[in-house]
Amino acid sequence: MSPNAPTLLDFDPADPIALTQALIRCPSVTPMEGGALALLAAVLSAEGFNVERPIFSEPGMPDIENLYARIGNEGPVLVIAGHTDVVPPGDVVAWTRDPFAAEIVDGVLYGRGACDMKGGLAAMVAAAIRYRRENPDAPGSIAFLVTGDEEGPAVNGTVKLLTWADQRGERFDHCLLGEPTNPATMSDMIKIGRRGSLTGKLTVQGVQGHVGYPHLAQNPIRGMVRLLAGLEATPLDAGTEHFDPSNLEVTTLDVGNPATNVIPSQARAVFNVRFNDLWTPETLAAEIERRLREAAGNTVRYEITFEPTNAVAFLTQPGPFVALVADAVEAETGKRPALSTTGGTSDARFIKNYCPVVEYGVVGQTMHQIDERVATADLKTLERITRRLLTTYFATPLQS
Ligand SMILES: [Zn+2]
Repeated sequence: MSPNAPTLLDFDPADPIALTQALIRCPSVTPMEGGALALLAAVLSAEGFNVERPIFSEPGMPDIENLYARIGNEGPVLVIAGHTDVVPPGDVVAWTRDPFAAEIVDGVLYGRGACDMKGGLAAMVAAAIRYRRENPDAPGSIAFLVTGDEEGPAVNGTVKLLTWADQRGERFDHCLLGEPTNPATMSDMIKIGRRGSLTGKLTVQGVQGHVGYPHLAQNPIRGMVRLLAGLEATPLDAGTEHFDPSNLEVTTLDVGNPATNVIPSQARAVFNVRFNDLWTPETLAAEIERRLREAAGNTVRYEITFEPTNAVAFLTQPGPFVALVADAVEAETGKRPALSTTGGTSDARFIKNYCPVVEYGVVGQTMHQIDERVATADLKTLERITRRLLTTYFATPLQS
């Protein structure tokens, strides 16, 4: 455990605020464990969970520590997923509070990971602890699947942890992932899916030459403009019931030509598509290639490559489990949350291969920012919502 992580005796882990503070004080910037998983392991095993700490490796990458914990021997199994790693604090001097001190000022808890996602994870751990203390003979099982590699390459994290658990015979009925899903208040948003992501790299080949003698050269910028216009000419789709329209953004356009009197030889562009459930990476790549062929005609010489992607679009169909989470949020906040698929990708895209997954957590406004913070009242609300969900989930068996 890191020297500044408090010992177990300092606080009650059923207190979501104290547990969040303790986790933030563990400087677990990816790939460092920072004491965060050790703290969770100690807390959960003291409450009767069986805790495992598998370490995963990959050549050329740092080893990553992970955590799997479970209480109960029978189904249904509700798994709560999350990560303890955080992005670097950035310019520490720009922070108004020490990013790893977890200070509370006027009901706001400051620190790296406060909302993404030590706060969410701590509130859910606190809820599970209190639920099991109050219901020691509760049916079913609660599991925690926690990685230290979500903000990094995500190679030695959730994907391997899921395989590891599967090989040991662990089966999950439903998953709650505690990423920060709310834009402004705790009643805003549950995520029931995520868009996919595909990155393409486009190169147009020309012939370098003197701008005064263009007939001896061929300007690749002209071709690139045509290709990009062709890519964006018509929308990819109009969206679906639960998804916004797919969107293509050109993220960079480079020629690298410092001279004003030289026609460059090559132009390069990179674009990223966030796509909905009408597409797979393969069908989308085929459509992009078709548009490029059409725009290029016989005159533009180009090459397109796609980066490998494991970010497919997925949807957890609104059903009893989604309703149960929404009910718990509504009961504790007074407002029914929207069911959304907006934003970036998350580890839910891996978990969905094993069981239905719903994402819900604290307000994410300041994630990855200077002065990342969370309202302590929101941590308490999330603890209550999670405990209510556990209570109803294990009271009546659910069909997924
Ligand atoms: Zn996160």
